[in-house]
Amino acid sequence: QVVTRFAPSPTGMLHIGGVRTALFCWLYARKHGGRFILRVEDTDLSRSTDDNIRIIEEGMAWCGLDWDEGPVVGDPSRWKGPHGPYRQMQRMDLYRAKIQELLDKGLAYRCRCSKEALDARRKAVEEAGKVFQYNRGLDAGRGCAEAHHDASQPAAIRFRMPVDGDIVVADLIKGETRFPAESLDDWIIARTGEAPGEIGVPTYNFCVVVDDTHMEVTHVIRGDDHLNNTPKQIPLFEAFGYDLPAFAHVPMILGADGAKLSKRHGATSITEYQAMGLLPSAVRLALARLSWTPKIDGRAVESAEEELLTDAQMIQLFDLADCQKSAARFDMDKLQWMNQKLIQRASWQELEPHLRPFLPEAWAAKPEDFKRAAIQATQKGKSLVEMAEALRFAFERPAAFDEKAVEKFMTPAVRPALAEVRALADYTHEGLEAGFNAILERHGLKTKDLAQALRVALCGRPVSPGIFDTLLLVGRAEVAARLEKWI
Ligand code: GLU
Repeated sequence: QVVTRFAPSPTGMLHIGGVRTALFCWLYARKHGGRFILRVEDTDLSRSTDDNIRIIEEGMAWCGLDWDEGPVVGDPSRWKGPHGPYRQMQRMDLYRAKIQELLDKGLAYRCRCSKEALDARRKAVEEAGKVFQYNRGLDAGRGCAEAHHDASQPAAIRFRMPVDGDIVVADLIKGETRFPAESLDDWIIARTGEAPGEIGVPTYNFCVVVDDTHMEVTHVIRGDDHLNNTPKQIPLFEAFGYDLPAFAHVPMILGADGAKLSKRHGATSITEYQAMGLLPSAVRLALARLSWTPKIDGRAVESAEEELLTDAQMIQLFDLADCQKSAARFDMDKLQWMNQKLIQRASWQELEPHLRPFLPEAWAAKPEDFKRAAIQATQKGKSLVEMAEALRFAFERPAAFDEKAVEKFMTPAVRPALAEVRALADYTHEGLEAGFNAILERHGLKTKDLAQALRVALCGRPVSPGIFDTLLLVGRAEVAARLEKWI
């Protein structure tokens, strides 16, 4: 069974680069009927707070990236799945036991080298023009002056890396990358503990290997900023006698200018995308399409229509082999285009839960007919924010009136007609249409004359959904109240 995991560090926001990685993990697991795990890598104690973890959980949930195993949103003490806990700080006992196992087997060693001693060593290696790393073979008897074996002193713990040959990373996206073993160091698996003999907080590269194995992860799909960590992790898998998972390193997301996507390009956190009124389905689609070219019957999608894949289609078509090796440029216009198309395509029931947070609380109590009419009347909007904005008139009286529009549309000829609109009683689409047309005829007005005057009176400006929808959404009593002033 395929098992993938997304393993964010809670740094205070969920970056869309991370969401794209999570999406690939999710698509791959769903495609293969496997499991998708959310694991929180919170060993950086200075940044990992419950709030930051919640931001990740909520961002993932909003994005529709449901996890089969992982934390329970907002409750640090609970999780779902048989391999928990899913927060690394809650897994310390396991890591310490695994570190002790390596120490016992002589596959790891205590290192008490001071920073000065290491610096001196680095300098000596550089001066000798050697390629090997200064910080390897630091265990006693292999060229280091300090008494490393002395377990009565606090010490960091290093993993003894192989010295010969290449470490080969066979990557499902990047292909094969070889790393000469001598270019890698005896990296630290646990920071210096506080008391003699105490094993300190284990490091990212260590925890990840233990967790990926104990959580039975089959496919490690992560950002390619971790590609250089993989040759460190592979010998550790081997030292434990663990099977290697498959690796797939997904390329970075760049801004439109080709620089790494950052704040100065605009929104980078998923919360900001949510606030912009994007549908999670549009975010999923746009992010998936960065560095992935879906193939339908062996040919890349081409037409605009084909671009608009549903989740089911994405899951069916997704293949790591169709992902590009190199970084992709983020295209905000395309995301917005997709968003508009998906809004148009969705049923009103699908849109309702996404639109709700942008509307006043009174929305929740409105009848179903009202909601359907409101959503259908504004479904041409580019975003949920635009839709909500277009519906303001249904909840609030105009705070001001567009002066030019008043001058243009509130003519003496139209005012008696407004009085008749005020008297209309059949508040159905058909009833309003019939009544409205009869009024036009009696007063010799054109549709536009009366409709625009009504819009100005009801909404403060000559812009609103179809005039009958506008009347229906304002409602009979409120139409009468708003027209009062113009009659
Ligand atoms: N915690 C790492 C990060 O946030 C992810 C590591 C991994 O996926 O192996 O970058």
